Amino acid sequence: MRFDTLIVNGTVATASDTFQADIGIEHGKIIVIGKSLPKDNAAKIIDAAGKLVLPGGIDVHTHLDMPFGGTTSADDFETGTRAAAFGGTTTIIDFAIQYKDQSLRTAFDTWMQKAESRAMIDYAFHCIITDLPDARLDEMNAMVREGVTSFKLFMAYPGVLMLDDASIFKALQMSAKNGAMVCMHAENGSAIDVIVKQALAQGKTAPKYHALTRPTTAEAEAVGRAVALAEMAGAPLYIVHLSSFDALEKVREARDRGLPVYAETCPQYLYLSLEDMDKPGFESAKYVFTPPLREKWNQEKLWTGLKHDQLSVVSTDHCPFCFKEQKELGKDDFTKIPNGGPGIEHRMSLIYSGGVADGRFSLNRFVELTATTPAKLFGLYPKKGTIAVGSDADVVIFDTKRKHTISAETHHMRVDYSMFEGITVTGMPDIVISRGKILVENNSFFGKAGSGNFLKRSTYGDVPKVAGVGL
Ligand SMILES: [Zn+2]
Repeated sequence: MRFDTLIVNGTVATASDTFQADIGIEHGKIIVIGKSLPKDNAAKIIDAAGKLVLPGGIDVHTHLDMPFGGTTSADDFETGTRAAAFGGTTTIIDFAIQYKDQSLRTAFDTWMQKAESRAMIDYAFHCIITDLPDARLDEMNAMVREGVTSFKLFMAYPGVLMLDDASIFKALQMSAKNGAMVCMHAENGSAIDVIVKQALAQGKTAPKYHALTRPTTAEAEAVGRAVALAEMAGAPLYIVHLSSFDALEKVREARDRGLPVYAETCPQYLYLSLEDMDKPGFESAKYVFTPPLREKWNQEKLWTGLKHDQLSVVSTDHCPFCFKEQKELGKDDFTKIPNGGPGIEHRMSLIYSGGVADGRFSLNRFVELTATTPAKLFGLYPKKGTIAVGSDADVVIFDTKRKHTISAETHHMRVDYSMFEGITVTGMPDIVISRGKILVENNSFFGKAGSGNFLKRSTYGDVPKVAGVGL
């Protein structure tokens, strides 16, 4: 047997098992998993003794090269995917935005152009629908045929991104038929807009009012409404960036009733809180994203939700804007601060550290949350999201003992601050492999722009059959 790469002596961890095994890779795929595989015909041998061998991370929520509020997110598909790789993420699903009067196809083509020659890891797209007259409903089927098998809808940002309930319901009915997944930004945008206008009228313009004008009740109400609309349509539902216990309760109730409702949270809601909005001056603009930071007690509730499978996925909602010149656009008015924060690089370490190293959940649950369930829900499994014969050789050699203090001084994202500045994590990727090629080793980068592939995804409707398990 011949291997391009042979990983020996490592501890392999999947969503279900942890075991000692060698892994043979050939032509970008895992071709054998076994004990004491022959080393004679391996072009390269990686000794993973004392290390974990994990499936590459999958981040299903990123915004690279995205126009927002008169500026553009600071990482493009080159710098963003490079930073992702440094952190052990080998697949992203970004968002192609359809603007008013545009076809969904135009959105897809536009974002393909941004990514194609730049991405260094594999990528796929959700399609954001902001304008859905009946004449366009059929375009959803065309996108599914292209492998864009999920759609993001907004219940927030009226007049910009928000869809009305009738359009949301129609989109859910379409997805019930074509097997796609609807991803929902769940906040009651109409009520929030009233609160925001009242705050501005009272001269409340500082960054912390971004958080104080978006109550958890507005998030919970929208989650509850989205669940009801999906239930009536007979469609699955995925809630993006869930941030609060109030909203989590709505997801838990839906899941307890057996509905195919899923939700993700993001590291910022697990590590940061409203207290970070009290930093002096304009500093707290660094934490202006939506949904906003919540009271600190919500953090442990979200960790518990991850442990008990009320929350199914951890993504980043990576949407970086530099403090200088970009966040500063809102110096005198919090509504003009571009919404978003940088996180694509640190998800794996933050969740391993807070989840596994701190004893909140198992190593296998960590793999499930960061790779396997994202792959299953979004039609990438078992090509991505696990260590198995026939899967893509997206592999992370992970050092569970290595400590690292996160800082803008050392991170690889193209942004001038870190949301997690000064936080020390336990557990870091040593070697990151994408389809058999080493991207990162010893803090050096070996990938190249354009080497990432666009991933045509199966539908959610197909995945339970492929995966052979319930979600
Ligand atoms: Zn987002």
